Amino acid sequence: MKALVFHAPEDLRLENVAERPLAAGEIRVGVRFGGICGTDLRIFKGTKVIEAPRVIGHEFVGRVSEVGDGVVGISEGMRVTVYPVVVCGECYACRAGRRNICVNRRTLGYELDGGFAESVVVPAGAVAAGNVVPVPDAVSDQDAAASEPVAAALQGIMRADIEPGTSVLIMGGGPIGLAHVQLARQRGAGPVIVSEVLEQRRTRALAHGADHAIDPTAAPLAEQLREITGEDGPEVCFVDVGVPALVEEAVGLLRKGGRCVIFAGMPLNRRISLDPNVIHYREVDVRGSSGSTAELQRAVLDHAADGTLDLSLLVSDVLPLSDWQQGFSMKTEGAGLKVLLDMSS
Ligand SMILES: [Zn+2]
Ligand SMILES: [Zn+2]
Repeated sequence: MKALVFHAPEDLRLENVAERPLAAGEIRVGVRFGGICGTDLRIFKGTKVIEAPRVIGHEFVGRVSEVGDGVVGISEGMRVTVYPVVVCGECYACRAGRRNICVNRRTLGYELDGGFAESVVVPAGAVAAGNVVPVPDAVSDQDAAASEPVAAALQGIMRADIEPGTSVLIMGGGPIGLAHVQLARQRGAGPVIVSEVLEQRRTRALAHGADHAIDPTAAPLAEQLREITGEDGPEVCFVDVGVPALVEEAVGLLRKGGRCVIFAGMPLNRRISLDPNVIHYREVDVRGSSGSTAELQRAVLDHAADGTLDLSLLVSDVLPLSDWQQGFSMKTEGAGLKVLLDMSS
């Protein structure tokens, strides 16, 4: 089968690799679409380190093409997405219900072969843990391919404790930022403000339901926010761009009791500096958000099916797998939103 294989930083190759036979408890999914994620770019550039060779890709949708011995409840032909993280279920994080930060997590596309391929094997532990998520009939394959990153965005929303009327600043109008707009809106947040350098993304942010989309290069962010939120500043800020200095800026913009959620992965080994008195006297929280859970991925697909989330707004381009280089450069330039690779063409 064709597969996109990581060999070393800047060395990804489209190759023919052998399909391995299934072990008991495993299933094989014939992949239709795979979404290119910021993390795939970081793997390509070497700022996220994984072992080679590895088939990358952790956001995908397809049909079950083979079912291993002992698997119940999953049959050939089922249209599915897969929550790509295999969690242990036993560590302190798993026991506390925080499976997204399982200390023994292994992920398809990082530690295990992933979905930028004509097919992918879902390991027994993942099948047994409920990682295989059926796609509701009302949700298209393309939309379902966006369910994994949107589930991660939903985890960020959970971390932010958003209630009706919570003012939210979203730094970055990429696919995650736009998902945050929709999800924050769904919870009654307002005003929802997107700060984004690219004009086309600001326009999109408004289409996704943002009240304001501002250009942080036009005037100091604090000044522009003052006109919207008054002197207090926003209550929540999502940092959805991998620029460490934005965290410093966000913390300085928040109102008392505000929450900064660092959603984006950052370049390796960078430091920021924060005034501890801002955190102390203003009771500002700086929180991380990492990954998601199978439950959240299911919830996203349910919301897409009942129309409360529009995943189609997030997918901008579909390219054949052979054009993966073009997809990666679009992603680097911020040209599209979610770019999908089509494994069947
Ligand atoms: Zn991703
Ligand atoms: Zn665990």
